[in-house]
Amino acid sequence: MRRAFVAGNWKMNLSLAETRALVEGLKAEVGDETRIDIAVGPPFVYISEAVNAAAGSVIKVAAQDVYFEEKGAFTGEISPGMLGDVGCTYAIVGHSERRHVLGETDALIAKKLKATLDGGLKVILCVGELLEEREAGRTAEVVKTQIVAGLFDLSAEAMANVVIAYEPVWAIGTGVTASPEDANEVHGMIRALLVEKFGDAVAAATTIQYGGSVKPENAETLMGQPEVDGALVGGASLKVDAFVAIIRNTIKAKGLD
Ligand code: PEP
Repeated sequence: MRRAFVAGNWKMNLSLAETRALVEGLKAEVGDETRIDIAVGPPFVYISEAVNAAAGSVIKVAAQDVYFEEKGAFTGEISPGMLGDVGCTYAIVGHSERRHVLGETDALIAKKLKATLDGGLKVILCVGELLEEREAGRTAEVVKTQIVAGLFDLSAEAMANVVIAYEPVWAIGTGVTASPEDANEVHGMIRALLVEKFGDAVAAATTIQYGGSVKPENAETLMGQPEVDGALVGGASLKVDAFVAIIRNTIKAKGLD
């Protein structure tokens, strides 16, 4: 059965010293927590610091992005092999800020996702609709397009290393969340797509996180939904207390306490 998973996406925040302090703080609180999976997502330049600070704990490190080539003349890019080399476990691909601020397409995201898996890392694929798409009743269509483009060329075996994060774009960094029922409905729709393509066992085993203004106060209700398997957390992952509270509320919501 799938595991609950709470991951932090720090975006372009914190310093070297703050990276160490945050990971050490988390380690002291949840470093031996085995009931759910936990990861932090620092900027590329602080990944090694985070990996070193997390050593000896269950906390894993995620990169916020990755490139699809292994090496060569790709100025500024970082390959899956490089991420693995410094101890990274996951790469996030398709975050809405990369889709909508930096113009990444489904085709580019699919290439990054495949390269990440081929490079031996796990991947968190972010999907989600814009506000105008939700208001136009196009949520299911948009999310389906992103899921099909990102995942439907993979084998069922490869899906063992894939986590999906449903992040409605209008809920990211806004303080507004999807209602627990709406989140559950979209997660259920994503899982139905996985059943169709990969079968029941893969669909049941795939962790689908919710992301978008998850905070300690709303985590328990959101994570209490049967199709919601954890959270991808932005702002609230930058503080030890808030991130730990989200982890603990997830454990509670999932009946693992
Ligand atoms: C995110 O960046 O993936 C995110 C969900 O951000 P926030 O929690 O701040 O809305």
